[in-house]
Amino acid sequence: MTEAPLKLQELLLVAERFGPTLQGEGPSAGQSALFVRLSGCNLACGSATGAAFACDTPYTWDQRRYDLSAESHRESVGEVLKWATAHPPELVVITGGEPLLQQPALLTLAQQLSAAGKRIEIETNATIAPALELLAVARLNASPKLANSGMAARRRIVGPVLQMLAGSGRAIFKFVACDRADLAEIDALVRQYALAPVWVMPEGTTGEVVLGRARGLAEQVLARGWNLSLRTHIVLWGDVRGR
Ligand code: SF4
Repeated sequence: MTEAPLKLQELLLVAERFGPTLQGEGPSAGQSALFVRLSGCNLACGSATGAAFACDTPYTWDQRRYDLSAESHRESVGEVLKWATAHPPELVVITGGEPLLQQPALLTLAQQLSAAGKRIEIETNATIAPALELLAVARLNASPKLANSGMAARRRIVGPVLQMLAGSGRAIFKFVACDRADLAEIDALVRQYALAPVWVMPEGTTGEVVLGRARGLAEQVLARGWNLSLRTHIVLWGDVRGR
């Protein structure tokens, strides 16, 4: 018997999946987790001259530097589900790229993972609105990009999406910061869109840089009533893929 072709909501474009490892960022930092990294992004952080923050996963979207057909592959929701349920961590982090570009299949995966007893966090740049059904089964770790990304504000800040996420009770907000000027920019966004709770993550691709910036930011982060996340994977293993 010929198998029916998979539908859009059953097929994912995957860059890599790995784990068990540690969630490195945000409220679940330090927790054992599985990672599914989806391909494609609607931003291009760090590609502008002089940007202080560069994307650490350009192989998911930058076709000038990478052969994206070699860096990604199609997988069914069923295959990813089978892999995730074969490993003990309860937490599954779905990241990118920008996972919400694949929302139909992402929703199917999140619903099936949730039904299988997994806890789901989706990392997003907060420029695309999630379906309410997705918010029902996953928490969104929303990471709006700052001017240090080199992206124009009109592309990286989408007010209605930030307001929707802030009002959902199903999102946290985390920002990559280099210095105190970045904190002032975060402050303005937090006030304008009532973003909460907030995590600040020091920018850096080595443990030394991350820790140094964390020391420079910690007091100011505390004074604003925010949280600090070290980016545990960078501190432990540096900027390597699959950790
Ligand atoms: S939004 Fe994230 S994945 Fe996309 S370019 Fe920026 S840092 Fe990279």
